[in-house]
Amino acid sequence: MKKYLVILYYHYTKLDDLDTFREEHLEFCKQHNLLGRIYIAHEGINGTLSGLREDVEKYMEHLRSDSRFKDIVFKIDEEDGHAFEKMHVKIKKELVNLSLDRDIDPKKLTGEYLEPVEFYKRMQEEDTIVIDARNDYEHMVGHFRGAIKPNIKNFRELPKWIKKNAKLLKGKKILTYCTGGIRCEKFSGWLKAEGYENVGQLKGGIVTYGKDPVVKGRLWDGKCYVFDKRLTVPINRVEHVVVGRDHFDNSPCERVINCANPECNKQIIASEANEHKYLGGCTKECSLHPRNRYVEEHGLTHDEVLKRVNLAYSN
Ligand SMILES: [Zn+2]
Repeated sequence: MKKYLVILYYHYTKLDDLDTFREEHLEFCKQHNLLGRIYIAHEGINGTLSGLREDVEKYMEHLRSDSRFKDIVFKIDEEDGHAFEKMHVKIKKELVNLSLDRDIDPKKLTGEYLEPVEFYKRMQEEDTIVIDARNDYEHMVGHFRGAIKPNIKNFRELPKWIKKNAKLLKGKKILTYCTGGIRCEKFSGWLKAEGYENVGQLKGGIVTYGKDPVVKGRLWDGKCYVFDKRLTVPINRVEHVVVGRDHFDNSPCERVINCANPECNKQIIASEANEHKYLGGCTKECSLHPRNRYVEEHGLTHDEVLKRVNLAYSN
């Protein structure tokens, strides 16, 4: 049994005094040595954090003892250490930003909740379209086989993309999925508001799907991007198909790194060899950036940087 737990959770519920809630919540987290990030809004909570097993268990009990959160679902992973560096509790306008003209209350309007087994079955039915509600850098390292990836950088661009590509969806049964389920609550609700009738969402998201004892993550290719130090977690426990491609040489790879230019920070897939070769930068500009983290960590001189970057881009 591993000593640490990493949890992912969200819950739509009405919260009033956000400032007080935030202060008390942060205090509790600090007292229990928890690390992670929690978003709170008038519509509820969305968080992910890590800590020693007993501390995380106390946190979950603490939250459940509050009647507003009694039905909250936690997705739990066992790990060997913390998955975060800091503890943040932030107040937000919405838990997930879809930038909708009219907001969707998932408690009133949302797609049909599908358990992993049902989702697995429906994915294989005819006239079905599976839409990945995540961003492209999340999709590139892993996704459901045959799923459609809207070409977006940000969740809030999704409605616009759907409107533009309405032809694809017309007359189809629609299935949506995301990491933990929260984005689909609103996205699937929005699809219904747009007039799509047959809309289902993966309950508990990809991470729950990967833990299901019956489907065992089948039809998932690659790994699942997560928003903590681990960067990816495995999902399919039956077969492993690599879909990620190295940013630099396009070879099969599923190692996600952040661009070493702190002003870029773009998530890319890169082998260890290529990370070294390109000094962790996603472009020549990023490799040569004066605050490049890789350069700082390796104590490279300016001449060494120039020499290595020129060599990397010369062949
Ligand atoms: Zn970059």
